[in-house]
Amino acid sequence: MANVMTVNGPIDASKLGITLMHEHIYMDATREVGGRNGLLNDPELMYQELMLYKEAGGVSIVDQTTGGLRGGTKEGASRDLMPEKHCIAIKNIAKKTGLNIILGAGWYRDLYYPEYLHRTKTNEIADGIIKDIEVGMDGTEIKAGIIGEIGSHTTWISPVEERVFRAVARAHKQTNLSIATHTAGMTVGLDQLDLLEEEGVDLTRVTIGHCHSYNNHEYHLEIARRGAYVQFDRMGETSQFESETWLNLVLKFINAGLINQLLISQDVCVRQNLTGYGGKGYAYIITKLKTKLKDFGITEKQFNQIMIDNPKRALTGE
Ligand SMILES: [Zn+2]
Repeated sequence: MANVMTVNGPIDASKLGITLMHEHIYMDATREVGGRNGLLNDPELMYQELMLYKEAGGVSIVDQTTGGLRGGTKEGASRDLMPEKHCIAIKNIAKKTGLNIILGAGWYRDLYYPEYLHRTKTNEIADGIIKDIEVGMDGTEIKAGIIGEIGSHTTWISPVEERVFRAVARAHKQTNLSIATHTAGMTVGLDQLDLLEEEGVDLTRVTIGHCHSYNNHEYHLEIARRGAYVQFDRMGETSQFESETWLNLVLKFINAGLINQLLISQDVCVRQNLTGYGGKGYAYIITKLKTKLKDFGITEKQFNQIMIDNPKRALTGE
């Protein structure tokens, strides 16, 4: 069985258990989200929130907080508001909670890039990602276990984002780590797949994130037909109407016989998503959504397939 790299070193993939594939623990989203809401930086608060997940039966969590989101990379002013170097803070909270935490390498999206990325060659961007995977992140020996979330601007991929996507593909080919993306509407996930495929990536190693951002079953089918995972990662968040829409799309996807390519997560990314601020927190899928899915005929076995087997395969390719 393959290994998965956590912040505390490699583990056998059979030890992953229930895994949230797309989350954030410490994160600085203040470029777009005003005030304290956009800042996850309190170790005690995040410990309490993560323990709710652990107590509910959660075992592993993938923190896809890529470059630009880790406390003001270069231009950002808020780095000093973060607890310490991002990967060290994550390692500390992994030790304290006992959760397996997997960190993502790479860059978030254009709006969050440091200026120098625009002047960096594609292969040099790839080398930086490879270093995070093979040597360690941010001058430490803490290694990334996935590449992502790698995003594109809104409904299109900007020129510098295209360069990052090509760099990600090259880093993937060298390291064999899986790729996870960020999308924001329309069919941009397919454009991301085109780019990765052009660079020779086997699309079964790719997860298209935030598939709820384009509520179109045909779009989800097309991603699956291309071989990639379809990830609904804001389950339960925002309005009742949207939550029901997403749940129906998930069920439709399962009923299309594609349960093997489905991933669900919470994408906790601002304080409002935390239980302490009235949000659903990291445990919602296990404590609430599971019951809802059951009402629609999703069995325990199928739930475990989505939350244990699929993440294992999405991370390792096996
Ligand atoms: Zn995202």
